[in-house]
Amino acid sequence: MSEHVLVINAGSSSLKYSLMDTGSGDAVASGLVEKIGEDQSHHVHHGPSGDAEDDQAVADHEAALEAAVRAFEKHGPALDSVDIVAVGHRVVHGGDRFAEPALVDNDLIAAVNDLVPLAPLHNPANLEGIEVARRLFPDLPHVAVFDTAFHQTLPPYAYTYAVPASWLDDYGIRRYGFHGTSHAFVSEQAARLLDRDPGEVNVIVLHLGNGCSATAVRAGKSVDTSMGMTPLEGLVMGTRSGDLDPAIHGHLARVADRTAEETDRALNKESGLKGLTGVNDFREVSRRRADGDESAQLAFDVYCYRLKKYIGAYYAVLGTVDAIVFTAGVGQNSAEVRAAALDGLESLGIHLDPARNADLGGVLAGAFVSTDDSPVAVLVIPTNEEWQIARQAVEVLSR
Ligand code: AMP
Repeated sequence: MSEHVLVINAGSSSLKYSLMDTGSGDAVASGLVEKIGEDQSHHVHHGPSGDAEDDQAVADHEAALEAAVRAFEKHGPALDSVDIVAVGHRVVHGGDRFAEPALVDNDLIAAVNDLVPLAPLHNPANLEGIEVARRLFPDLPHVAVFDTAFHQTLPPYAYTYAVPASWLDDYGIRRYGFHGTSHAFVSEQAARLLDRDPGEVNVIVLHLGNGCSATAVRAGKSVDTSMGMTPLEGLVMGTRSGDLDPAIHGHLARVADRTAEETDRALNKESGLKGLTGVNDFREVSRRRADGDESAQLAFDVYCYRLKKYIGAYYAVLGTVDAIVFTAGVGQNSAEVRAAALDGLESLGIHLDPARNADLGGVLAGAFVSTDDSPVAVLVIPTNEEWQIARQAVEVLSR
């Protein structure tokens, strides 16, 4: 019987769960409870016999996880019929305390709590998920897998901001990076596709989802990444601006009387594709661009130009690049983004094959979209963060 891990990703008003087969990476069942605490919540459970939906109000995370357990009982598979070895929890911010996944105990909870100032929206929700799951599954080991952990190998010159040195000790101000679970998974899969050992390849991973980040991976280790102290820095995203002049905060405070919180919120929730076009969904931006919408065209150009700049920067960081990998919703599905971001980079040995790029032909295991003789391979690899969390949970148990 294969081993399974129940993977939980608790957000401020949502709870996502997947029952992962650790061997195959398949989700045996999964689900999402949204709008927790509102009058009408939404719960969808994808089980072996199809999808089941429920719109009853779910008061809190405990009720959400109880609803998930009921959905497993009703729509399958019954949790006691499956060999579950652990519960794996996604935790956004591990600061510089966690370079690896770790078994949940009271010390870990206290440490994640200490890191709340660095991730005020995410860490409290993640902790809530952990506490609720420990109550409902007291006999299973719980493992925390941190979004930041993969990037703890960044050298000091890559994670240090050129600000007063005391800010690091006083406020923890440095680059941490995020999406680490995805970057770790995808860079390892890239080595596999290249038929090489992860310890001997250099890759640039572009995780382009609603959140976007680029990572330079040297010999299996993250050496630079575009997200910073928070997930705001770097690439243009669905609703986040990515890089911008830090003086904009002060300027808006002076000329528009905007508080730090207001500007923070606008840069995180009302910027990026949404700020430029009014919509954060890339598919809609693409549709509008195809219809000749000028703001959609500009947003597309800003998005791809920023990507190209990071590819160039990380090429310089790595010196030699074996592969550029596109992953997540936009990276896996948008041939036009891949083509635009890599356009004109042939002199760097990056040769996209237009026919392969346009038609991946079922990308489940990953696909080459570069020409056979391209010195730098261009790959499209589906990310599977849940599987990575499940595998890491098992690894922690075997230590
Ligand atoms: P993720 O966060 O990985 O789920 O990615 C979400 C983003 O991927 C959204 O902006 C979607 O619009 C985008 N996306 C999903 N499917 C496609 C597609 N077929 N073509 C372009 N973008 C897509």
